[in-house]
Amino acid sequence: FITVQQVQKAFGAHQVLRNVSTHFDAGKVTVILGSSGSGKSTLLRMLNRLEKHDSGTITVDGIEVSDDAKALNALRREVGMVFQQFNLFPHLTVLDNVTRAPRRVRGTPKAEAEAKAMELLRKVGMEAHAHKHPFALSGGQQQRVAIARALAMEPKVMLFDEPTSALDPEMVKEVLDVMKQLARSGMTMIIVTHEMGFAREVADRVLFLNQGEILQDRPPEAFFDQQDNPRIRAFLGQIA
Ligand code: ATP
Ligand code: MG
Repeated sequence: FITVQQVQKAFGAHQVLRNVSTHFDAGKVTVILGSSGSGKSTLLRMLNRLEKHDSGTITVDGIEVSDDAKALNALRREVGMVFQQFNLFPHLTVLDNVTRAPRRVRGTPKAEAEAKAMELLRKVGMEAHAHKHPFALSGGQQQRVAIARALAMEPKVMLFDEPTSALDPEMVKEVLDVMKQLARSGMTMIIVTHEMGFAREVADRVLFLNQGEILQDRPPEAFFDQQDNPRIRAFLGQIA
């Protein structure tokens, strides 16, 4: 579904991704792990062109990722993203946050967008808060709204960059539960996280990035239970 071929990325003299090639299948959940600065966010952000790659090729559902306006438009409709900081529009209610993109980008009529939004808010357990503003919500609640907002565009793939890292511990579970439910529904998901229990339970596959290279690509059982790489063992030891 997503193909990454020999992708390179540097910031100035700093080579952040070196010759990364991989493939993400439809309906699968991939967790990306790696130390701080290993290039996880950069890789994720290149998949929807929040960051440009210097060389190599990325295609998402047959769309080549480039600056071509038409391709970019198609890409942004297919790829949803959830960040560490929830980035909700502070002046809009929860409902208006969720309906904004479908109404503006897709031209969905208000009533239809709102009905769809309420259904999504129910799925993430936020239906009762539809008319509140983000400041009146906890971090976990805001992040669940951010997930509903991304889903409102009916993306074919969802990218998550440390979606629970900014949350108080007691709110992590409610967000991970929503993500688990989404995974079970068959959504294609690529997730950067440090939640190892979640990764083990939900991932079909774990990619480990080290200094801008894919050091390992394995199913979670082999990754966590039969880890033979000293570098990765040390990483897992620090996190646990
Ligand atoms: P973390 O776990 O801390 O989020 P990461 O694996 O997501 O780390 P990236 O954010 O992809 O790492 O960054 C990889 C490297 O690229 C880091 O050394 C970072 O400082 C550098 N970098 C990232 N974005 C930029 C930028 N816009 N300009 C310059 N350097 C950048
Ligand atoms: Mg990052």
